[in-house]
Amino acid sequence: MQQKDKDKLTKAGFATPRGGAKGAYQNHVSRSNRVIVPYEKLRIAPVRQYFDGYVVRLLPEQYFASTGIPKDEFLASDYPIKIGENACILYRTHAPFQRFPSLEGWQVCHLEKDGQIVKERGKGVVDVGQYVLRIPALGSQKKRFEGVVQGVFAPEYTDQETNYLCKCVLTWLIIHTVGSPYTTTQAKHLQAILYRERLLDASNYEYKGMMRHGLCICPLCLRFVHVTHIPQFRERKNRIVNTQDQVGEEPADEELSVPTPGFGSWSQCGCARDQSLQNSGKSSASWGGWSVC
Ligand SMILES: [Zn+2]
Repeated sequence: MQQKDKDKLTKAGFATPRGGAKGAYQNHVSRSNRVIVPYEKLRIAPVRQYFDGYVVRLLPEQYFASTGIPKDEFLASDYPIKIGENACILYRTHAPFQRFPSLEGWQVCHLEKDGQIVKERGKGVVDVGQYVLRIPALGSQKKRFEGVVQGVFAPEYTDQETNYLCKCVLTWLIIHTVGSPYTTTQAKHLQAILYRERLLDASNYEYKGMMRHGLCICPLCLRFVHVTHIPQFRERKNRIVNTQDQVGEEPADEELSVPTPGFGSWSQCGCARDQSLQNSGKSSASWGGWSVC
C-alpha cells in the first residue's frame, strides 16, 4: 500500500482532540487509552466500556462548597467519586484557583512506576495526584500548565481490537475507491479477517451508505470516493460536537482545519469534490483525523 494511504490509516487509530491541551487531553495516542469523563457527563458515560480506564474530571466549582471545603457528597465515604483515585480537579483559569486552591497534601497529577516519576503511561505505571493546572496567562498573572495529560476524549475511545478492525474496514474501503491501484486479490489476509468478524458483507456497506455498486462512497453526499481523496480527508471542525452519544465536551478554542488554497473545493460534509487530479499528490500531515464526513 502506498505510504500516504498507510499514513492515513495509522492516524485513524489515534485520538487527536484539537485544542484539547486546555482540558488536559492527550493528543496522538492510541484510542485504546484512559478516558477523561467530565463530571457533568458521568451519568450518561458508558464507563464500563472504557476497558483502559477512566478518570472523572471535576472543575473546582463542582467540587468545592467554599474555600478549603469540599461539597458534602464528596466527603461521604461511600461516594464513588474520589479525588486522587478515580477523579481529579482541573483548574482552567486563575480566579477559581485562587478561590478554591488545592487542599493540603494534594499533589499535582503525575505518573509513577515503582515509586519513581515517569513520563508515559504503560505497564505498571500509576496515576498519582489530585489536580491539574491548565491556566493561561491573564494580565500580570503567569500561565501555569502543570500536571500530566489525563487521558483521551471520550468519543474517541475504542478498545484495541475494535480500533484494529476499524482500520481493517477502512483499508477495505480504500481498496474499493474509484481509481484504486489495489485489488482484493492482494488482500486475502484482510479479507479473511473481515470474513471472520462478519465485516465482509458488501450489501451491509451498501445499506449503510458506504458503498454503491461495489465502490466506496461518501455516506453524506453519496459521491464516489476517488483513491486520491483518501490522504486529503479532513477532520470536521465540529465532528465531536455532533457525535450523538458523546460524553465529552467541546474542546475549547478548537483550531480550524483550513484547506490549503489549490486543493479544490470542499463539500460541507468534508470530502473533497471537484478535486483536480493534478493536485492529488498533496496531503497535509496536520489533518490527522479520518472521519469520512
Ligand atoms: Zn461527502
